[in-house]
Amino acid sequence: MSLPSYHGTALGTSVHVVVTDPEHLDRAVATVERVVAAIDLACSRFRDDSELSRLQAGDGPHEAVVSPLLAQALAAALRAAELTDGAVDPTVGVAVRGAGYTVDFANLPADGGPIPLEVVPVPGWRRINLFPATRRVEIPDGVEVDLGATAKALAADLAAAEAAATMSGGGVLVSLGGDVAVAGDPPVEGWHIQIAEDSRAPITAEGETVAIRSGGLATSSTTVRRWRRGGVELHHIIDPATGLPAAGPWRTVSVVAGSCVDANTAATAAIVRGASATAWLEAARLPARLVDRSGAVIRVGGWPAPVDQTS
Ligand code: AMP
Ligand code: MG
Repeated sequence: MSLPSYHGTALGTSVHVVVTDPEHLDRAVATVERVVAAIDLACSRFRDDSELSRLQAGDGPHEAVVSPLLAQALAAALRAAELTDGAVDPTVGVAVRGAGYTVDFANLPADGGPIPLEVVPVPGWRRINLFPATRRVEIPDGVEVDLGATAKALAADLAAAEAAATMSGGGVLVSLGGDVAVAGDPPVEGWHIQIAEDSRAPITAEGETVAIRSGGLATSSTTVRRWRRGGVELHHIIDPATGLPAAGPWRTVSVVAGSCVDANTAATAAIVRGASATAWLEAARLPARLVDRSGAVIRVGGWPAPVDQTS
């Protein structure tokens, strides 16, 4: 079965939009492009003209009344931090740059000379004040906010919901670099999604798939956004406790949850938490698929065993 779909790129990653009714595709794609552009303009750390970059320009502290969208993205990031006891923490900004992730990944040199890598815990999300009613935010001196872990997933959730709202019947799936949100009426057999470490991977008959009917599915991986400095392998998921790339056993984690933001939050948190992540995912009743550094796969929380697609 093949549903009407669109493939493109945005936010430095792949964009997939799938609808159940071909008549809805063009408008759904336009909605996704609008939402993605708005999130990029509000939250990007790679463009000087984003609202977040302007808010944090120069030495701190920084205080401002922010747009409804940036306020929503900051609230999502702070909620993620609270739900994960700070394993996902938006104050990783200085640490992410300190690990060498200084420019858009497409422009990041794969190799380079040594950089100083020091254990410095991140400042911590509790130091950010957000007053939702007035949309006022206060970021103290020395704290740099990075919304990379939640903004893309939030864009997928918002885009799917907005696209579904313009349809009378039918459903939509939005994938932004492997952060997947669905909304509206799903196909009868659910949305079948292939799990991969790289969201650019082709759909194949052998690929493991999982079906969802609502909410979201996200994959966080240390295998794709990697680079080397002075012979040291580095990647983009920071352990807030050390301020360095997470060193745990999992290289890729996929999670299904009630929204893409929650799925992505849990997936990133699992990489940071390492060995204790499986018990935490089970307790949270989140279906998850974890791949360790050797490629061995563990499924928890009711994630289904793979079906042989070829027979
Ligand atoms: P994801 O791909 O969803 O796992 O998000 C990773 C991105 O979020 C990175 O590229 C960083 O910009 C940022 N990030 C890295 N580590 C963390 C962390 N522990 N908590 C919050 N954001 C993080
Ligand atoms: Mg993600």
